[in-house]
Amino acid sequence: MIPVGGITCCLSAAALYLLGRSSGRDAEVLKSVTRVNQLKDLAQLLDAASKVLPYVVAVSGRVGSDTPINCEYSGLRGVIVEQTAEQHFLKHNDAGSWIQDSALMLSMCKEVPWYLDDGTSRVHVVGARGATGLVLTVGSEVFEESGRSLVRGTLDYLQGLKMLGVKRIERVLPTGTPLTVVGEAVKDDIGSIRIQRPHKGPFYVSDKTIDQLIANLGKWSRLYKYASMGFTVFGIYLLAKHAVQYIMERRRHWEMRKRVLAAAAKKAGQEEGGLNGNTESRSESANKDRMMPDLCVICLEQEYNSVFVPCGHMCCCMACSSHLTNCPLCRRRIDQVVKTFRH
Ligand SMILES: [Zn+2]
Ligand SMILES: [Zn+2]
Repeated sequence: MIPVGGITCCLSAAALYLLGRSSGRDAEVLKSVTRVNQLKDLAQLLDAASKVLPYVVAVSGRVGSDTPINCEYSGLRGVIVEQTAEQHFLKHNDAGSWIQDSALMLSMCKEVPWYLDDGTSRVHVVGARGATGLVLTVGSEVFEESGRSLVRGTLDYLQGLKMLGVKRIERVLPTGTPLTVVGEAVKDDIGSIRIQRPHKGPFYVSDKTIDQLIANLGKWSRLYKYASMGFTVFGIYLLAKHAVQYIMERRRHWEMRKRVLAAAAKKAGQEEGGLNGNTESRSESANKDRMMPDLCVICLEQEYNSVFVPCGHMCCCMACSSHLTNCPLCRRRIDQVVKTFRH
């Protein structure tokens, strides 16, 4: 039997270790990025560092846009607006009860060009929707109940569904939100600067400061590593337990085999003592018995004729099996004893 639990634990430990290492590495990278205190300094910094590519910086400011979106439901002004509608319904399940479920009906996302402004200058941010750490504010959450028409209700009922209504959620990145962005700073032909996802390296858009981001990553890195250690210890414990069980089972197996062999030899000897004719073929059959004794390991009298469920071991006769709660070979619980027939 393969020790699934132990192997799963060790694999989880490896995955957690890698996660911890990558969080740790991200924290190190964030520590090394250039922090721009005032956006007006960015152009100069970029010119000076134009040979270093990509030039990853951390900038902070408030979200702004020349063409903000006016949100339909919440009335907020935002630069990224995401709308989702979920149909909520009750479903008739096999057990005969109603359970609540929902399905995503539509999801829509709009984004207009936007920038960060810290009072000294502006810098555009491109592709923020794919960045790590971007959390949109829930602008509005409305639940529209389904109309209660009799025909509709009956149809739904026949299909095993009861419509409850539609939940519309509007998530917004509102203008004026203070943000920290970590990304690659690029200057275009007309001299305006934008921050974008670097080819390699971190891309963060977050309402936390860069120090908070580093502290968070460090915390997660440590947590992952502790969890990894825990899983390793538990995995090794499971594997060791499995190995010990396996060794014990082999040992019991050999001991019982020895007993059975001895009993079979004794039996063959007795029979031989009683009958003297045809010695040649007698000892031959006794030899055969010694090779493959079919005796029950408990009584050493009957031939075994039962199999244990679930372990599958065959080593006892039906009479002895009825007194057992655990398999004498592997010590697993016996749920059921099945009689076997030999031809
Ligand atoms: Zn028996
Ligand atoms: Zn067994």
